[in-house]
Amino acid sequence: LAGKSFNDSRSRIKIGEDVVIGGKEVVMMAGPCAVESEQQIINTARAVKKAGAKILRGGAFKPRTSPYSFQGLHEKGLKYLKKAAEETGLKVITEVMDPRDVELVARYADIFQIGARNMQNFFLLKEVGKTDKPVMLKRGMNATYKEFLMAAEYIMSEGNHDVILCERGIRTFETYTRNTLDLVSVPVLNKLSHLPVVIDPSHGTGQWDLVGPAARGAVAIGADGLIIEVHPEPINALSDGQQSLKFDKFEELVDDLKKIARAI
Ligand code: PEP
Ligand code: MN
Repeated sequence: LAGKSFNDSRSRIKIGEDVVIGGKEVVMMAGPCAVESEQQIINTARAVKKAGAKILRGGAFKPRTSPYSFQGLHEKGLKYLKKAAEETGLKVITEVMDPRDVELVARYADIFQIGARNMQNFFLLKEVGKTDKPVMLKRGMNATYKEFLMAAEYIMSEGNHDVILCERGIRTFETYTRNTLDLVSVPVLNKLSHLPVVIDPSHGTGQWDLVGPAARGAVAIGADGLIIEVHPEPINALSDGQQSLKFDKFEELVDDLKKIARAI
């Protein structure tokens, strides 16, 4: 179902009435790694909306490497996120980590995010596959393209065909950057599949000053969208501050990306 042989044209995934992923426009998703407070998410929502984002990101359930790190605000975070999105006219993308939370997250999200660590959590994939909400599936940090597309197949085989693929960097021998962002995944996945491809330059690089160059490359190579971490005060962020952009940097970047999208 995810393969080119099933659908020879590109899938366009509608998010509500007016946002399309896989259309002509490069869709910007932005927001903090984690929802930390009502004030933090509403301020970020206003800033990213003004810059041109269509979708607000923010984790309420965080897959942290250490169990002692901030795990997210859970339902309270989902409430703040939805409220901020409604006030600004943005759509919501947020991660669901547990099949038992799919119903809860569905009440607040417009798009489910499946994190890299859960790319092969087959029960979770099937559970979101039973819903009618779009799913953004992040590539596992050591998944091949075929494994990635088979994970999408798990979702689609349950009836939900609205899957967006997201490249967020893979593990290689290189340790200078957090991950190695595989930009060539865009043309490769376009060759193998009809599903839209989004690039995450934040997790892909792990360093805020590399996010812009990676994002520009992603647009130039044909990504259907970008998901970027933005925080009012990256230095005080409870997660992923080092790779988060301040409001003004994000705005500058979006202006830059518009030029590239137009030039090509
Ligand atoms: C995230 O988007 O904050 C996240 C945890 O991403 P990934 O699953 O790609 O690590
Ligand atoms: Mn993050």
